[in-house]
Amino acid sequence: MRVLGIETSCDETGVALYDTDRGLLADVLYSQIAMHGEYGGVVPELASRDHTRKLLPLIQEALDAARLARDELDGIAYTAGPGLVGALMVGASTAHGLARALNIPVLGVHHMEGHLLAPMLEDEPPAFPFVALLVSGGHTQLVEVGGLGRYRLLGESVDDAAGEAFDKAAKMLGLAYPGGPQVARLAERGDPRRFRFPRPMTDRPGLDFSFSGLKTHTLTAANKLRDEAGELIDQDRADIARAFEEAVVDTLVIKCRRALDQTGLKRLVVAGGVSANARLRERLGVEVAKRGARAYYPRGRFCTDNGAMIAYVGAQRLLAGERDDTTMRAVPRWPLDRLTPPAS
Ligand code: ATP
Ligand code: MG
Ligand code: FE
Repeated sequence: MRVLGIETSCDETGVALYDTDRGLLADVLYSQIAMHGEYGGVVPELASRDHTRKLLPLIQEALDAARLARDELDGIAYTAGPGLVGALMVGASTAHGLARALNIPVLGVHHMEGHLLAPMLEDEPPAFPFVALLVSGGHTQLVEVGGLGRYRLLGESVDDAAGEAFDKAAKMLGLAYPGGPQVARLAERGDPRRFRFPRPMTDRPGLDFSFSGLKTHTLTAANKLRDEAGELIDQDRADIARAFEEAVVDTLVIKCRRALDQTGLKRLVVAGGVSANARLRERLGVEVAKRGARAYYPRGRFCTDNGAMIAYVGAQRLLAGERDDTTMRAVPRWPLDRLTPPAS
């Protein structure tokens, strides 16, 4: 089954083609980051408008790259939520219109299920069951995954998501949006012994997270070192970035360890934008090796938003017979554990 996947939940227009026999056939992406960077964050109205501009050309580009004609498609999957409602509606209406024209099934899928299953696109995909750490711009969750659509929430952030915290710390250090990758780059030159930030909520049992307090620590450390013009010298910024990253990574590692112990599972999937973080991967690698477990990640390009993960999830569910009726769906808030396996 050949499925077109469409992702427009936030600030990336992603389009991909996935064949359930042959795997990924094409994957194209347009990022709006440069446009939103000017405003220090995503401007919803601009996001929808840009998706409208880019989506149809990207669909054609993906078809061309895969040397497929539209009428060779067997189904269409789009991100139905969670995300920005206007942005979601661009993908949803395009998917429904195209599916109607081609007379093929269409299905709205969950963006976080896409992130969660993105490692399935790699050469050695994880087998079920596994523990998943979802760490993105809007979510930080630990999930016990029994199979497609079998998700039990083990813990989540009570305030900021890990990626959001990275982006806010970046702003405080004068870095452009989204600053996660730049904080990581700066941290490489930082001295890990200079500052020590707390590891929030690790001193009590449980698998929930809290990252908003680390903002205060970052801001306080930065403000103490600013010169009269409010500027920071580069080494100070690097040292703060390092302390921040160490605290986030340490906290995530401690909770992953607990989740593996609690579930007795030996496979850990890490996905979402922050799963691209090299220090996190390095630390988790040591931790899983110690317990004879294994960690699975998407390739770098599929850590952040992309059409491939949506095409993949959609293909699995469409293949099982799941589809939308004639109404398109755009669901800004949609908890992952509401999902169910495709009805057989
Ligand atoms: P959600 O998926 O929860 O709706 P989102 O789609 O905006 O949110 P993603 O695209 O998965 O999130 O991830 C983007 C986030 O990942 C940003 O906050 C970004 O700063 C962060 N990020 C990306 N690379 C890194 C890195 N190397 N280290 C830390 N953070 C990173
Ligand atoms: Mg994004
Ligand atoms: Fe995302």
